Amino acid sequence: MMYPAVRISDIGLYLLCPRLVYFDSLGKLPRFGSAKQVLMRSLALSLLQKDDLEGQLKEALQRLRVELPLVYDLKDDELQAALKEADGEIVSMARGLICWMDQLIPFEAEVELYSEKLGLSGRLDRLAPGDTPSIIRTGRPPENGIWKRDRLMLAGYSLLLGEKENIKVDWGQVEYPSLGMVRRVPVRSTDKARVLRIRDRVRLIKGGQLPDRPEGSPCQSCHAQTMCDMKHSLASKFF
Ligand code: SF4
Repeated sequence: MMYPAVRISDIGLYLLCPRLVYFDSLGKLPRFGSAKQVLMRSLALSLLQKDDLEGQLKEALQRLRVELPLVYDLKDDELQAALKEADGEIVSMARGLICWMDQLIPFEAEVELYSEKLGLSGRLDRLAPGDTPSIIRTGRPPENGIWKRDRLMLAGYSLLLGEKENIKVDWGQVEYPSLGMVRRVPVRSTDKARVLRIRDRVRLIKGGQLPDRPEGSPCQSCHAQTMCDMKHSLASKFF
C-alpha cells in the first residue's frame, strides 16, 4: 500500500505530543508559527554576505515590516511586538553571527525535499555549506547541544538529503539568530532509525488512530486543549 509522505514537521509535532498529529490531520491546528518565528527565520535568511551584518539586518527588517503582513496571516499586534523586539536585538545578533558566517553562507533557503523510498518529505530552512541541514529556532537552546526534538528533525532532513544527493550526511546544525549563535551537532544513525519508527506511528495516527494522552505533554500551552479534553472524556465513556 502506498502511503502519503510523512512531513518532517509531523515528526516534530509528534515529539511535542502525538495527539497534536491527530488534531493537525483533521485540519484543526493553526497553520503558521508565531510572528517572532516567522520574522526571525526571514531575518536569518536575509544575510547574503559576510560584511556589514548589522546593515544587512536593518535593511531586511524595514523590508519585512512591509512584506510579512502581505505573505503571512499574522496578528498585527504580535508582528509589531516581534519587530520591536528584533530591532533591539540586531546589534547583538550581528556581533554573534559574524563568527558563524562560514557555516551559514552560501546557502539554499527553504529547500523542498521528498523521498518516495523513505516515505518522508519536508522543507528545510537552510541547506548550509558542506551539505549541512540547518534549522532556525527562536527559543533558547539547552545548556549543551540541542533539544532532542531538533536532533530528530535534523536526522530526518539528513535522511532526505542523503537520499537525494546520494551522500552520507553526518552533521546538522540549529541556528538561534536572536542569540547570534549556531550549534553544530553530529547526526546519529540511531536517531535516523528512530525517525523511521516515528514515521510509521504518524501514518497510523493520520489513518485515524487517536493516540493515548502521554505523560508530561505540554497541555498548559496547547492550542488543542479543548478538543483534546473532549476526546478524552468521550473515550473514557466508551472504555
Ligand atoms: S492538550 Fe495535551 S495531550 Fe492534548 S494534544 Fe495538547 S499537549 Fe497533547
